[in-house]
Amino acid sequence: MRLLRKPVRQFHDLAIRGATGLLDLVVPPRCASCGAWLAHPLCAVCRERLEPDGEDAAIPHLEACVAAVAYTGDAVDWLHRFKYPPPGLAGLDGVPTSVVRDLVADAAHLAPEPLPDRVVPVPLHRLRLRARGFNPAAVLARQVARETGAILLPLALVRTRDTPTQTGLDRRARRLNVAGAFQAASHTPGTVWLVDDVVTTGATLSECARVLRRRGAHRVVAICVARTSRRLDYAPRR
Ligand SMILES: [Zn+2]
Repeated sequence: MRLLRKPVRQFHDLAIRGATGLLDLVVPPRCASCGAWLAHPLCAVCRERLEPDGEDAAIPHLEACVAAVAYTGDAVDWLHRFKYPPPGLAGLDGVPTSVVRDLVADAAHLAPEPLPDRVVPVPLHRLRLRARGFNPAAVLARQVARETGAILLPLALVRTRDTPTQTGLDRRARRLNVAGAFQAASHTPGTVWLVDDVVTTGATLSECARVLRRRGAHRVVAICVARTSRRLDYAPRR
């Protein structure tokens, strides 16, 4: 069993739940998918229904790349709801965020030793960040840092080029698309865990890892919520 800080996470989740509503005192938590009582955010059955990640192709500059689940079925829906919250009050629904945060924590538990010294999210370009309002990868990186007790460096990488979407590009075109698109804003020694929501060919993660290694990272491991399968020929939009 890996020495991740599970009790801390559980305490934190309780604190979040407490803060999001005293209603929990009178209304017990329910599974966000099927509505089963006393399960949050997903019950064991709904969590089981998410297909495990089955890919393990090596990605240049990365020691390993782990994902909690395959990018298919309900996982696609949860990630979409997390990344594209509707405007207004409906966008404050914290359930999709709870689900994907639990999934990225599961991915962290699958990662090879040692635990990270630093946790870094894959950055968005500032124009995209302004349009979106938040960087989904940064939300996930915060969770991974909490799980591991590592230092969170949310701004260690900067996306200097607003690259066109990778959707529809093949492996080689993706690599060229992100070449030189990132810079490291700080020195990042030790073991670094690089966090993103969905991994497809790994071109973005590979380019980020290359930059981190040039700035002192000894080993870089990617931690993702979901991975697209080569069986399923589609990719999420950024
Ligand atoms: Zn359920």
